[in-house]
Amino acid sequence: MKRQTRKPKLYSIDHILWSNFTLFSVLLLVFVSLFCVATVRNSLRKQVISSINSVTIETYRYLEHPESTSPEDLSRYLLSVSSANGMQIYVLNAQGEVVAPTIEGLPGSDQNYFELLEQHREELRSNTEEGYRGFVETSKETAFFLGIVNDDTYLYISRSLDLVNDSLKFAQIQILLLSGFVLLASFLLSGYVAMRLSHPFAEVANKAKKLANGDFSVDFNGKYYYREMGELAAGLNDMRDELSRSSQMQKELIANVSHDMKTPLTMIKAYASMIQEISGDNKEKRQMHTKVIIDEADRLTTLVNDILNLSKIQAGMDTLQLSVFNFSEFIYSIIQKFEYLQETQNYIFETDIESDLYIEADRGKIGQVVYNLIGNAVTYTGEDKKIFVSLKREKQLLHFRVRDTGKGIPENEIAAIWDRYYRSSEAHKRPIQGTGLGLSIVKTICEKHKLHFGVDSEVGKGSTFYVDFPLCEEDKET
Ligand code: ADP
Repeated sequence: MKRQTRKPKLYSIDHILWSNFTLFSVLLLVFVSLFCVATVRNSLRKQVISSINSVTIETYRYLEHPESTSPEDLSRYLLSVSSANGMQIYVLNAQGEVVAPTIEGLPGSDQNYFELLEQHREELRSNTEEGYRGFVETSKETAFFLGIVNDDTYLYISRSLDLVNDSLKFAQIQILLLSGFVLLASFLLSGYVAMRLSHPFAEVANKAKKLANGDFSVDFNGKYYYREMGELAAGLNDMRDELSRSSQMQKELIANVSHDMKTPLTMIKAYASMIQEISGDNKEKRQMHTKVIIDEADRLTTLVNDILNLSKIQAGMDTLQLSVFNFSEFIYSIIQKFEYLQETQNYIFETDIESDLYIEADRGKIGQVVYNLIGNAVTYTGEDKKIFVSLKREKQLLHFRVRDTGKGIPENEIAAIWDRYYRSSEAHKRPIQGTGLGLSIVKTICEKHKLHFGVDSEVGKGSTFYVDFPLCEEDKET
């Protein structure tokens, strides 16, 4: 059964930024409001308690001298302190009844404090600490002090926490308003940031589409506000240059190949007609003409083979058929293929090949490497028509070198010569016609064999192409 792979859901930058910003703001607001409310509540409560404490001290001082004050004076005193501090102050007897303030016409507290006293009487009596023997307690609505004055008298001071609660409510409303404002601000800010972030992506995507449609004039540079986008743009510009170069080279290859194919085809047709019309019965002429046809057909075969080989190797469809073979003899056998040039066009091959050196490699493909390098040396060597081929052993390595005395390769072209389809402007009309694929095939085969290869070239003096092979100790051919 075919398993369906689920595509991960992709969100836009706007969406991601907006949701993250909002989540962050909400968390921040929750944290800040909790923290603020707790701090405000604590500090307000502390203030209330400390005000109760100072009134307690004052009242105790007053109560310590009961003989000097009449009950009316005490009541008046308590009422004035109460109203000055927004508190309720009561002196209680042991039954929890209010004994002061009691001024006619003024209501006392209607609360029964008996239960409260009962709960804490023992605790209050056993408290022998110096100072005001009592405690402060807070509930949701009030904070109060309950203390003992003497066996029969108790002091109760309370203050409502309404103000604290109102202040907290006010703070909460303010925090709520602030939250709304922060959320709105985060919404707007995230929208703005998202626009700034996503806009360049959209721009680059548009340009990439144009590039995909073959417009190599697109420039990925732009006003991007952040470095990473600049780096991406630079990378894409490099890619565009590379694509443009490759496309240009492909066009050139097609032009080259069509041209290179056209010449032999024209020759084949011309010579075939000549045989038909002129040389049919003349054996000598016929042989000359058929030789031209065969040579031109060979050229066509080489061209087609080069193209096929390269694409096969590069597509990885071609695996290496490794075998151990005598590389020294193998090189000689390839040089022999160029013998006709030595005889007919005075090319000179100078060899320095150590005998019986073995390598393990794909014989057919290494043959192509050696053939292409020697072929290029023949094509590009100087007027002396000299080509030097050497194979030397150094420890476990075999250095294979092909040197010519030609014009050399300018420094700035060296990297490009290994590219597919690259041909210098000086692709001369020499004995071996190239396709611009030869070195690319060499490179691909050497890389597949993991061989170290390259070229040393000096303009005006010539070039030395080299490939280093690991020596194969088993000197038995397989
Ligand atoms: P071509 O078919 O053009 O020879 P190659 O891939 O073999 O294609 O070589 C690519 C280019 O490298 C050549 O067009 C030429 O400019 C340069 N080149 C290759 N070999 C030599 C050499 N021995 N001397 C100078 N230039 C060379």
